[in-house]
Amino acid sequence: LDPTREDAVGQCAQAARSSAVLHRDLNYDFLSLTEGKGNHLMLADGRRVFDASGGASVGCLGWGNERVARAVMKQIMAIPYCSTVFYTTSVQEELCRYLVDSTHGSMGRAYIVNSGSEAMEAALKLARQYFVELSPAQHNRTRFISRRQSYHGITLGALAVGGHEYRRAKFEPILMKNSSRVSPCNPFRGKNPGETDQEYVDRLVKELDDEFQAVGPETVCAFIAEPIVGAALGCVPSVPGYFKAVQAVCRKYGALLIFDEVMCGMGRTGTLHAWEQEGVAPDIQTFGKALGGGYQPVAGVLASRGVVNVLERGSSVFVHGHTYQGHPAGCAAALEVQKIIRDENLLANVRTMGELLSKRLQERLGAHPNVGNIRGRGLFWGIEFVADKDKKEPFPAEDHVAMAICERGLAKEYSIGVYPGTGSADGIRGDHIIVSPAYNVRKEEIEWIVDALGRLVDDFFRIRHI
Ligand code: PLP
Repeated sequence: LDPTREDAVGQCAQAARSSAVLHRDLNYDFLSLTEGKGNHLMLADGRRVFDASGGASVGCLGWGNERVARAVMKQIMAIPYCSTVFYTTSVQEELCRYLVDSTHGSMGRAYIVNSGSEAMEAALKLARQYFVELSPAQHNRTRFISRRQSYHGITLGALAVGGHEYRRAKFEPILMKNSSRVSPCNPFRGKNPGETDQEYVDRLVKELDDEFQAVGPETVCAFIAEPIVGAALGCVPSVPGYFKAVQAVCRKYGALLIFDEVMCGMGRTGTLHAWEQEGVAPDIQTFGKALGGGYQPVAGVLASRGVVNVLERGSSVFVHGHTYQGHPAGCAAALEVQKIIRDENLLANVRTMGELLSKRLQERLGAHPNVGNIRGRGLFWGIEFVADKDKKEPFPAEDHVAMAICERGLAKEYSIGVYPGTGSADGIRGDHIIVSPAYNVRKEEIEWIVDALGRLVDDFFRIRHI
């Protein structure tokens, strides 16, 4: 026991309690950010940290981008707010057109809100309204099926369809009861020894089909999934063919397919939409984070042509609305971020640097006895830690291993910011960290990230084992 550590913890809690902010942890003395420049964050205590995850995979251009700042400023000076009853703005129209066109005809209209959670709420209501407008025979469709170890947002509707046990736990009695969950596609933990990808897909799809049957297929509005599971599992792509098979089940029962691309979308995995790599377009899609790259709170929903057609033929009104929906400053930031991604051909960089990052992470950390699995796509990589590599045994929950690694990463000798997570469901945990640098990351920076992470992981477990 280190008495100075106890003092430090005491002082930390004391400082935290003098804060007026209702922080997520009331006893933690949060580090104060003063500036962001490129891929670096400056802290009030003088530290300079390489931001290797863009917060929670939000930053896609790094910080201090003047082009985006100028676009936002110009918009605020032109018109900072747009009431949605009679008005629109050219910036909202242009952004939505850009998003719709980026889907090559799959999607019909876009809806802009301020956060991923709001986007998911809008998606749930859109799915329900679609069936209300479709025909009286479809009015029984009130249920949603999603997956365990998923995260779709923190508001009550989004939380209800999500499978994040910790975030649900205290609110379980007040969550919507019309949702249920099936297993995620998580080959590292879910695939049986010797099972082929096809057999694994068949097993998961049978489970989904059984769930439709159990709840009544005619009562299901939609199946919801992240094409690559972000914070809840740590950048887990599905095995090939999984989403095609899932879509076939939805079609068989007339339910919609909602993809939550809040974390994995808007270029993060090397294509603007992660579903492009699955060859499966959803009926409704949410997006956020890298849409505005952190420059403004902005997110949204895309609705397929089929969904839009039914609404247009029906009441022609989407019964939903926020005071700040389609906010001009948010739209301006998003539009400029997306133009920069296009002008600087950054998706190609995501793919090339992603391959390098994957290769180097495997070389440096793949054989580490406490690294169970490294997986991801593009610039979206998760490293899962295990207490026993052969048995894939996770660390005890109370050790908060992922959190402790990330916190240690902020120490001067590493100066790296990565994002922690613990997939928890069915008693299975999986401490992981997310590495998701900006889309304009350079080769030397990838080498630096892997070196810093390698030293951090080596030191962390060496000290833990003493
Ligand atoms: N969906 C996914 C997949 C997410 O990762 C998140 C946030 O992490 C959300 C939804 C909620 O987004 P927000 O935190 O912007 O409300």
